[in-house]
Amino acid sequence: MNNLSTPPLLVADTLQRPLRDLRISVTDRCNLRCTYCMPREVFGKDFVFLPRAELLSFEEIERVAGVFVQLGVQKIRLSGGEPLMRHGVEHLIEALSKLCSTEGQPVEIALTTNGLLLSRKAQALKNAGLSRLTVSLDGLSEAVFQRMSDSTASVTTVLGGIEAAQRVGFSPIKVNMVVKRGENEHEIIPLVRRFRNTGIVLRFIEYMDVGTTNGWRMNDVVTAQEILALINNHYPIRQLDPNYRGEVAKRWMFADGGGEIGVIASVTQAFCHDCSRIRLSTDGKLYTCLFASHGVDLRDSLRRSESDAMLARFIIDTWQHRTDRYSQMRHEATTFQGRKIEMSYIGG
Ligand code: SAM
Ligand code: SF4
Ligand code: SF4
Repeated sequence: MNNLSTPPLLVADTLQRPLRDLRISVTDRCNLRCTYCMPREVFGKDFVFLPRAELLSFEEIERVAGVFVQLGVQKIRLSGGEPLMRHGVEHLIEALSKLCSTEGQPVEIALTTNGLLLSRKAQALKNAGLSRLTVSLDGLSEAVFQRMSDSTASVTTVLGGIEAAQRVGFSPIKVNMVVKRGENEHEIIPLVRRFRNTGIVLRFIEYMDVGTTNGWRMNDVVTAQEILALINNHYPIRQLDPNYRGEVAKRWMFADGGGEIGVIASVTQAFCHDCSRIRLSTDGKLYTCLFASHGVDLRDSLRRSESDAMLARFIIDTWQHRTDRYSQMRHEATTFQGRKIEMSYIGG
């Protein structure tokens, strides 16, 4: 990429939050239909996914990622949809893993996957230079997993993917469980038991009101407090300090040394004050909040081949105008003023 003239040391938004994390959705398609994310009534066989020409190419993603890194982004997470369904995603990872910050630090490349294609992809992902891997799994019971993912896929396939990732050297692997009341809270302890003492960090995510299709109700949220109390009853836990400022998951360890768990309490303990994340949708729109209703189009500028300095100016302007703090304002009547975009499109 062109060298940007005098890059700013810090791009901050209206609440003085720096721009540090970029999440890229590499596909809006998925091989599951989790009821809390892509309910089949909406994402059924008639749903029209983005045509190929609308997707950012790998070259376009590389270019824009390079500009973000020059502006201070230190971590890039690939998501979707299901990122392993994007053909050749390992080639994109290989290119991104060569990016270095202005201080010469390598950028951390992470990926979140449902794990179904992981057994066959793990080695290629490792070879490509992927630094961190998160696998989503909402239960060990096949019945619960199949109901929540509205599919006939098997837990065994996901566990096989996690084992393959361990074998090729990913460490620590994180496993994300979304907890939804009446659906899978009874799977919390079996998952804890399964992943304790394995080096895998299990993380519990409060069910969120992302998008407008999942029929979210506050009553369906099993709160972080409830989750931690339940675990503590079975396996006493102690809170750990965050690894870094703005870490989304609160960290806990088993008092007997059985490892670490995390809780992402985006509903009951909002962390907007430290939110340094920007999202790039599959078709090249920038979103400054997971709950946004509008994005700004970067693809047009990319395809008009504007200079990197112009792309950087566009990104800086977008970030500097950012006021988002949806989770902190969730319960205020004025919070929601339009159709929120879906998580499968913007990336988790
Ligand atoms: N398909 C991949 C996967 O499931 O890991 C990546 C994309 S998915 C949108 C990213 C993460 O968002 C997953 O861990 C998923 O469980 C989480 N997620 C999706 N919808 C959610 C919701 N309504 N509330 C909380 N987490 C959600
Ligand atoms: Fe697909 Fe992931 Fe959404 Fe489930 S959470 S439907 S696996 S994108
Ligand atoms: Fe960041 Fe928006 Fe989530 Fe708040 S609600 S933490 S601003 S993505």
